[in-house]
Amino acid sequence: MLEVADARAEVLARVRPPVPLVQSVAGMTGAVIAADVAADRDSPPFDKSLRDGYAVRSTDRFDAPLRVVEEIPAGAVPVKAIGAGECARIFTGAPIPAGADAVVMQEDATAVGDGVTTRHAPRPGQWVYRRGAEMRAGEVVVPAGSVLTPAAAGVLAGVGCVEAPLYLAPEVSIVATGDELVDVCRTPGPGQIRNTNGPMLAALTATAGGVPFDHGIARDTRDALRDTLGAALAEANVVLIAGGVSAGKFDLVPGVLEELGVTAHFHKVRMKPGKPLLFGTRGDTLVFGLPGNPVSALVCFELFVRPALRALAGHADPGPRTATLPLAAPVAEVNDRPTYRPAVLEPAAVSWAVRPLEGGSAPDLRGMAPADALLVLPAGDARYDTGTPVPVVLMDRKN
Ligand code: AMP
Ligand code: MG
Repeated sequence: MLEVADARAEVLARVRPPVPLVQSVAGMTGAVIAADVAADRDSPPFDKSLRDGYAVRSTDRFDAPLRVVEEIPAGAVPVKAIGAGECARIFTGAPIPAGADAVVMQEDATAVGDGVTTRHAPRPGQWVYRRGAEMRAGEVVVPAGSVLTPAAAGVLAGVGCVEAPLYLAPEVSIVATGDELVDVCRTPGPGQIRNTNGPMLAALTATAGGVPFDHGIARDTRDALRDTLGAALAEANVVLIAGGVSAGKFDLVPGVLEELGVTAHFHKVRMKPGKPLLFGTRGDTLVFGLPGNPVSALVCFELFVRPALRALAGHADPGPRTATLPLAAPVAEVNDRPTYRPAVLEPAAVSWAVRPLEGGSAPDLRGMAPADALLVLPAGDARYDTGTPVPVVLMDRKN
């Protein structure tokens, strides 16, 4: 049976290189940019005032009132040069006039007739944001491979970049399987439960930068699975199938995938929960047969599917993001496989601590809902006191 890290390497080795497309950058927060974007001009484009006050010559004498020769609001262009004994009234964001090299803020100045006195002489360059201090024309300001954070969206706007090559978001088909399942809109009859995996996997896909397409519920028959999985495979970069991958009589997914031309690369991983995971490919399409148990499906998503989606979306580091943090409460568990337990991060005296949550065993999705991390416990006797540093996988909940 494969170890988690080897299974993930196997998945990532099958990710085809991501495809960029020139598109509008508006609203694409989280996307990865595929080419360098350079500044079209210096920023700031002129020496500009960082305060409301007076633009002065720092070498002036400041022993008598300075004569105010002009008023320069933001957006205006100064027309007068500042000579000895002179200054200009200036406002934040306005260009520094020729001759001046510093700003005295208005709190440090007093108007006297048509002049102004300052409390003390300014330093050269005081309250002046120098032309090009943030960026120079031609300089790469958003390098290829950057994630479009909200600040990056602002930087792109600042350099006039409306369109850029962005990696396409992977399209993800989602299929829930099981004769016991009904859609969320229906009242379950005897022996039935609602499909939780479909909506959960769609939500997870969206947090990972993928575009989910829900193919609903397939019954546990070869014909039903062949139809639904065939349609799911036809369109997507990634297919997520929940349920039907274990070894039971009604676990027909592996056989039907084989019939549909999917090559299985592994089936079963040494982990708990999530052991029955199946991974295969057909052409460039990645196919994950996730365990039907919703908690198992979520853990497999975090450990294998999210990294695959990130790689497909052009992220240089597919993750998962991990950290080692002190426990906020003791844990005691004995397992034959590495075990992943829901946990929450808490601010601690220094850095963060990780608190294991009650519940979150395989069938208990409710216990998983508040989690923003998975505690990783090794196989064997894992008994740790509060304060022991433990590895965690950080989950991105988009909150
Ligand atoms: P399976 O992997 O198909 O054997 O399913 C394992 C367990 O997960 C069973 O108790 C199923 O009823 C449950 N399960 C499977 N699929 C779903 C789903 N989409 N929503 C909620 N529970 C499910
Ligand atoms: Mg089933």
